[in-house]
Amino acid sequence: MKILLLLLTILFAVWLWRRNRLNALNDRKSKSTQTDSSANNPASEPSPMQACSHCGVHMPTADMVQGQRGIYCSLAHCQAAADNRV
Ligand SMILES: [Zn+2]
Repeated sequence: MKILLLLLTILFAVWLWRRNRLNALNDRKSKSTQTDSSANNPASEPSPMQACSHCGVHMPTADMVQGQRGIYCSLAHCQAAADNRV
């Protein structure tokens, strides 16, 4: 009977230890995913695309050159479009 009690105590201790370890792992996982998602949000967010008014190439709007008559993929196309239309 003593052995059975000892065995139950050991099993209970192991169960408690495993539960605490799983909780700690889950906490770490959720924390890391939170920090990962917050760190990756600016990069993973799709930037809006627009077509160059001169050649039609699609590019992220942030990388494009704003001209007087449209938005262009490069300064060269911005100037070429301005030269053609003047
Ligand atoms: Zn272009």
